[in-house]
Amino acid sequence: VTNSQNIEDIVKKYIHDNNVMVFSKSWCPYCKKVKAAFETANIEYYAIELDTMADGVKIEEELIRQTAQETVPNVFVNKQHIGGCDKTLVAMKEGVIDLLLTPRTTVTNGKMEVEEQNYNYDLIVIGGGSGGLACSKEAKYFDKKVCVLDYVKPTPVGTTWGIGGTCVNVGCIPKKLMHQASLIGEYVHDSEDYGWQELESARKHDWDKMIESIQNYIHSLNFKYRTDLRTKSVVYENSYGQFVGPHRLKLTDKKGKTKEITGKYIVVAVGGRPKYPDIPGDKEYGITSDDLFSLSYDPGKTIVVGASYVALECAGFLHGIGREVHILVRSILLRGFDQQMANRIGDYMKNIGIQFHEKCIPIRIERLEEGKPGRLRVYYQRETEDGKKEELYEDCNTVLFAIGREAITQELNLGAVGVKINQKNQKILTHYEQSSVDHIYAIGDCIHEVSMPFGQALELTPVAIQAGQLLAKRLFGDSTIKMDYKNVPTTIFTPIEYGTIGWSEEDAIEKYGEDNIEVFHSEFVPLEWSICKHREDVKTMCYCKLIVEKKTDRVIGFHVASPNAGEITQGYAVGMRLGATKRDFDMTVGIHPTCSEMITTLLITKSSGKSSKQEGC
Ligand code: FAD
Ligand code: NDP
Repeated sequence: VTNSQNIEDIVKKYIHDNNVMVFSKSWCPYCKKVKAAFETANIEYYAIELDTMADGVKIEEELIRQTAQETVPNVFVNKQHIGGCDKTLVAMKEGVIDLLLTPRTTVTNGKMEVEEQNYNYDLIVIGGGSGGLACSKEAKYFDKKVCVLDYVKPTPVGTTWGIGGTCVNVGCIPKKLMHQASLIGEYVHDSEDYGWQELESARKHDWDKMIESIQNYIHSLNFKYRTDLRTKSVVYENSYGQFVGPHRLKLTDKKGKTKEITGKYIVVAVGGRPKYPDIPGDKEYGITSDDLFSLSYDPGKTIVVGASYVALECAGFLHGIGREVHILVRSILLRGFDQQMANRIGDYMKNIGIQFHEKCIPIRIERLEEGKPGRLRVYYQRETEDGKKEELYEDCNTVLFAIGREAITQELNLGAVGVKINQKNQKILTHYEQSSVDHIYAIGDCIHEVSMPFGQALELTPVAIQAGQLLAKRLFGDSTIKMDYKNVPTTIFTPIEYGTIGWSEEDAIEKYGEDNIEVFHSEFVPLEWSICKHREDVKTMCYCKLIVEKKTDRVIGFHVASPNAGEITQGYAVGMRLGATKRDFDMTVGIHPTCSEMITTLLITKSSGKSSKQEGC
């Protein structure tokens, strides 16, 4: 074999013809480890030893081209790239390999063929949140009998809410409105330099008024969702659903009344709920984002525990409306995001007065005074620079835990009907939303999507919605279009917003190699901030960067920290999806004067070592 087309075909054939394909080298201890693990698990595999083959080097080069993985073993399961030794062992432990090898029903015309029965419904969706509502309404376009269940278990302090799930009631919607409340506070500060008089002296924020406006809006959305389902003839059951058979669910309403229904297809869209740290006083005295957005009293001085999306956003708007905010950071800010950007967001927040306590975890909470909010003492442990642990405390009125969320799959009886979950995070293992049981699917925050590295289907509303709609089209229409979980744009609504698409700089270096990428960047001052005295210390902290693959000129990472980053990032996401090159960005004419135009004029590379500060107009 000599030409490259042949080699590509040969590699494809190995991957296609073998359920488990191991590209190995006879002397490699990691290859031996992976093969031994397959043998112990009784999983049949096919291995070729590249070092013993005439075309071994060429095959290895082709594998690097296809997978960007330079080491062996290089493992594929059911045509899907798994990775090297460590990734394969993790995938085995998490049940990913098992799921990929589970025989599926044949796909005909994009539809999964399931034996026809006399079911109550064509589709039952468990969970009336972003994904569940989208999926059930889409199924109705195909004139199917659809039922959606939605039930909210109260939080430890008794908060509950209506239909619509996390986004509408305790997530995106109230969060963005509170973010807006805090931005308005900043504009009031700005107003004096723009000639408005006496606004500054009138600056006092009323928590109760904000909650009333936001909750009224949320209730109007709950009403709209209920009537929308009625108009579309989707049956809505305000009941908690659990499997009692593969096609049969038990429904329990809030009075404890039960009934059973059956469905040909069942989609699990139960989302997640916030975690608690399991320390004394956490559930008695602490709250989470599930409580914050409808809190009937002003939270006052707040300690936020956690340093990711939810923590930084909540800390940001609470500070913006004038409350004292402290954040306990266990390790780094915004794990999984570009760390240069994460630290910029952190620096900005420190600069405007939010107090970060690094390397700190809470250990217990005591109540000092009853009341709403009352007074609490949070004891926490700090790891000092020499690795010692010291115990400290901080008094406050409210403690907000934002330490991550867990999929609420534990009480669904999934195991009893054969649906496999990732034991580590309780998420349902899915392959393009299909679980290990043919007619049971899952979407949204509760899935571990094995077609993505580390199962990462971002926990975002538009992801849940699009996955739900596409799934309904595949189940009931002629569509074969699958959800594309790659290049999903996202924005963190911190006081300075951070929008991103694609690779972080550190991940791009790991995947492509430092010499194969170029980073273009710029620090800039939004025009509208340039005449505001109170922005003086932070106005140069806006920043954008593009990460470009040198060989193809393709933009593989997009990052912007600026006002309105959410609005900016959404537009560029189309370009990134279409595979835009740096030249495409350069040839795009900017809109002047905006922050967004900076991204079309990036000339300074990081490797040049030149200053990234924007000069002049
Ligand atoms: P959910 O919306 O959580 O819906 C699941 C529903 O199922 C819930 O109503 C639940 O009570 C119900 N349920 C659970 N179990 C059962 C059962 N057994 N029977 C009946 N019903 C059941 N995403 C963004 O894109 N942008 C943002 O700005 C954003 N901000 C966020 C801010 C916060 C504070 C949080 C917490 C999340 C935010 N998200 C944001 C994430 C977004 O809210 C979620 O990704 C999205 O809501 C997930 O939708 P879902 O359909 O998977 O689940
Ligand atoms: P994450 O899981 O992303 O982050 C959890 C944070 O809590 C990390 O900083 C983690 O620190 C810290 N932590 C975990 N356990 C402890 C502990 N015991 N003590 C102290 N700190 C701890 O969760 P989030 O709740 O922030 O977000 C969940 C998802 O919701 C996100 O992935 C996102 O998809 C979605 N979301 C989207 C938003 C948007 O689109 N704007 C906004 C908000 C949420 P460490 O790094 O050390 O592990």
